[in-house]
Amino acid sequence: MINTHPNIVIVGGGAGGLELASKLGHKLGKSQRATITLIDKNRTHIWKPLLHEVATGSLDTSLDGVCYSAHAAKHGFQFILGEFTHLNQHSQTITLKQLTNNKGKVLLPERTIQYDELVIAIGSVSNDFNTPGVVEHCFFLDSQNQAERFQHALLDSFTRVHQTANDADPSKPSHLSIAIVGGGATGVELSAELVHVASLLKHYGMSEFKSTKLSIHLIEAGPTILPALPKRISDAARKELQQLGVNVLENTAVKEATKEGFITKNDELIAADLMLWAAGVKVNDFIKHIDGFEFNRSNQVLVDAFLQAKGTEHIYVLGDACAFLQADGRFVPPRAQAAHQMASTLAYNINAKLKGKACKPFEYNDHGSLVNLSSFSAVGNLMGNLTGNSMFVEGKLARLMYISLYRMHQSAIHGPLKTIALWFCEKLLRSVRPKMKLH
Ligand SMILES: Cc1cc2nc3c(=O)[nH]c(=O)nc-3n(C[C@H](O)[C@H](O)[C@H](O)COP(=O)(O)OP(=O)(O)OC[C@H]3O[C@@H](n4cnc5c(N)ncnc54)[C@H](O)[C@@H]3O)c2cc1C
Repeated sequence: MINTHPNIVIVGGGAGGLELASKLGHKLGKSQRATITLIDKNRTHIWKPLLHEVATGSLDTSLDGVCYSAHAAKHGFQFILGEFTHLNQHSQTITLKQLTNNKGKVLLPERTIQYDELVIAIGSVSNDFNTPGVVEHCFFLDSQNQAERFQHALLDSFTRVHQTANDADPSKPSHLSIAIVGGGATGVELSAELVHVASLLKHYGMSEFKSTKLSIHLIEAGPTILPALPKRISDAARKELQQLGVNVLENTAVKEATKEGFITKNDELIAADLMLWAAGVKVNDFIKHIDGFEFNRSNQVLVDAFLQAKGTEHIYVLGDACAFLQADGRFVPPRAQAAHQMASTLAYNINAKLKGKACKPFEYNDHGSLVNLSSFSAVGNLMGNLTGNSMFVEGKLARLMYISLYRMHQSAIHGPLKTIALWFCEKLLRSVRPKMKLH
């Protein structure tokens, strides 16, 4: 049977891609006006801004993860597990890498998927700027797997410190040092979250783990942490972190990562047991091999006013993978709110295109930024829609707003009723479960 419906293929089920698939599934998939296909290399979705909570065990992915296949069945689209590697614009096909299990056994051969409209929403990965030793010695927070790897190493380190402190053997060091490179939102939020989970250990049989046994170094090459945000926010975050005991090192460029720790440009060693790299983002290098795309310095694909990849037809790019130049000459920043707004524009435009109606150009509205400092506080700014001025917020109000961002994402993919039900279930489960993941 010939499929007369257009094939709309979305690659990447993250903050933007999953919202788009859910919206198009409802608008077009359920009424069978189009076949909507979402492809992701993982089986479950976790909202990326939560990864620092996964890394510290504050968040259990079995609660907050969304299973793509189950979600697709309910929302009018189909899900294909696979990793996108090649694009052939001439035949309008993409190639998915051969699928193997975690033991390397081949489950599926390389596959080809045909599209009529393609949306690339593959997000970004950490940029190590080719710094020697980073790939070998550092953890990253680019995916759920990586965050869970860090969480296991952290739990092992907590156990070691507790045991050596308990043994009271002076020959064995009973101290844990963690160094994070990158004073952006990820590094700042992770530092605060680490202090928070360390304070919980005494409830779970690790009474010997005192705050004096943990050092956290947050290393930023530039003059200030949170460089993309107004000074007042950076100052408030620095003050809060310092009060929590975090060693905030600004103007400190790292030139190498070694087994012992980070080496700075001044040849000083910042000794660390666990090292994490969160110093910038780029789109995965494989994208550069795709013919016909134009890129910026971060490998992001240049797009036109309608988010269509420049010089192509039927190919759109959204979220962190996309370089959208604004009127002020700056690219839209790689943020969840940008991915969300781009998903909304594309959902409207793809639907309009199928109906033969006019598409609308994308316009980025910066609603401000919020940085979560775990249960201690949050800081940020909100942009006034009318005045364009920003309003500084901190403390409980900012934390409430930060939490509501995730609820908005849940609402965009599940709808408001299920979001309320999920919130209620989470509250209930959290009251009967440990406050951190201990396995
Ligand atoms: C720890 C952390 C904290 C953050 N905090 C904030 C915050 O507070 N506020 C904010 O606005 N932003 C924050 N961000 C940034 C935000 O998460 C991203 O801007 C946003 O997730 C980008 O959405 P996206 O849809 O472009 O990509 P993503 O959400 O990264 O999704 C990309 C998807 O593509 C899949 N994928 C990747 N490559 C392939 C491939 N080759 N084939 C198939 N699938 C593929 C991935 O598995 C993933 O599901 C944070 C990021 C991190 C890491």
